Amino acid sequence: MYKRGHLGVAMLTLAPITFWLLVGGYPAFAVLVAGTVLYLAMLPDMDHRVPGISHRGPTHSLLFAGVVGAVFAGAASLVEPVFSIAVPAGLSMVAFGFLLGFGSVVAHLLGDVITPAGVNFLWPYPKEWSLYLTNADSTLWNWGLFALGVCAMAGAVALAVRGVPV
Ligand SMILES: [Zn+2]
Repeated sequence: MYKRGHLGVAMLTLAPITFWLLVGGYPAFAVLVAGTVLYLAMLPDMDHRVPGISHRGPTHSLLFAGVVGAVFAGAASLVEPVFSIAVPAGLSMVAFGFLLGFGSVVAHLLGDVITPAGVNFLWPYPKEWSLYLTNADSTLWNWGLFALGVCAMAGAVALAVRGVPV
């Protein structure tokens, strides 16, 4: 999947979370989460640039998602004593940091799992999973997911700000 498609999947993943954070009264968190997830949307594809790492290998795995989550959790534990903010759902900042890093990578993997090359979720165990929905270079899917993502985010923000009609 290309960058536009990945941003689309990231926004589709973010939409319900953004809605939940806004309705819960955490607008700053909503922006922080959306910014982080979109910023990290292409992180696993750094394997294109690091020599010696195969594409869709180690950086496209739940193990890597866990490592990124652990880095975020570590950063949160350093920040927590100095700068403590109310975290939704009674989570600790460390747990929240882990979920944020982990989820950012998983959102990327969801974008790749629909293509025939698939994702080796359990790397180093060699097995690729694929939903065979589209090729990674499909203009229709990349733009379609991007457009859906934008609509989902806009809808989530509009519903949260105006209140859900009942
Ligand atoms: Zn990828």
